Amino acid sequence: MINLVDLRRQFQSVKHEILKGIDDVIESGQYVLGSKVKELEEKVAKRLGVSDAVAVANGTDALVLTLEAYGIGKGDEVITTPFTFFASAEAISRVGAVPVFADINLVTYNIDPSEIEKKITSATKAIIPVHLFGHPADMDNINKIAKKHELLVIEDACQAFGASYNNKKVGSLGDAACFSFFPTKNLGTMGDGGIITTSDGVLADKIRKLRTHGTTKKYYHDQIGYNSRLDEMHAAILLVNLTKIDEWNQARRRFAQRYRQQLGNTSHLKLPTEADDCYHIYHLFCIESEHREEITEALLNAGIQTGIYYPRCLHLQEVYSSLDYKEGDFPIAEALSEKLFAIPMHPFLSESEQDQIISILQQKEGN
Ligand SMILES: *Cc1c(COP(=O)(O)O)cnc(C)c1O
Repeated sequence: MINLVDLRRQFQSVKHEILKGIDDVIESGQYVLGSKVKELEEKVAKRLGVSDAVAVANGTDALVLTLEAYGIGKGDEVITTPFTFFASAEAISRVGAVPVFADINLVTYNIDPSEIEKKITSATKAIIPVHLFGHPADMDNINKIAKKHELLVIEDACQAFGASYNNKKVGSLGDAACFSFFPTKNLGTMGDGGIITTSDGVLADKIRKLRTHGTTKKYYHDQIGYNSRLDEMHAAILLVNLTKIDEWNQARRRFAQRYRQQLGNTSHLKLPTEADDCYHIYHLFCIESEHREEITEALLNAGIQTGIYYPRCLHLQEVYSSLDYKEGDFPIAEALSEKLFAIPMHPFLSESEQDQIISILQQKEGN
């Protein structure tokens, strides 16, 4: 079977360094908020050119704690895309605010700035653009709208570590940004993890407080917080993967280029593109086709895994039925949810595996 991702190969490639890092942690006797987390936070902040990074238990918590630290909650609205992983909206609901959706761009699959503007009300507090599949959102226009209406911009960068926009790193483009280190993300650990990046030191301090039970002085609490920390073991693993992430992203881009070269003229497939001044890291490689079912079945029969991201838009999820959206509200996102499918994309794919995938996709032409 050729899988969408191959974490075993990835971790095998760095096994010795990781075992060394884990051994350091065992020997340190310090397993929560010790030197590895601190080192990871410093390295991530430096890489992105921001003043602060705060590591937390997962990407969803990164969003929840950021929203809460900004004081967003009941009575507030936050605008995001209906075409993303559920957590982007779930975090908004979790703090008691209302997710307001705006349709996406046909080409990049990211939230469309002109649609955002139509959704702004007096209750709107923030925009959460998602850099979907590793392609940066249209941040210049989003930031312009945010500035005009005095809104916060919180990047959901969970799928885009290492991507950039106008030569600036994703994670440094808004007021704050949230990353996930879930194993299948392009930068992942062997469990859950997340981090918030920002150049707002006051915000970073509030999040640090929230992640440890609302306390800055041990056993003295002036706020209800969370227990949401990244473990030292995960920080040790991530410090190793961080040294490889550029190389891994470059490998993804080479495989993407190869898919494009070989499948670019296949008329029944629409391949992902990269907007000008964007550096796409292809967390996922998703193709559009009117014949999704046939094609994914042919691939499966040839031992090739596919995935559907995302089969149901968030505004049509049962849990959001009370928000009163209906089919047809976001035609671009809805059409994509019927057509898009992911094919294997990861740094440890081999060219011969990729050739097998390509040959099945080419065969389907004219059927
Ligand atoms: C994975 C993901 C999240 C949530 O991250 P977890 O670490 O799984 O909690 C949020 N938003 C997007 C776009 C994601 O892909």
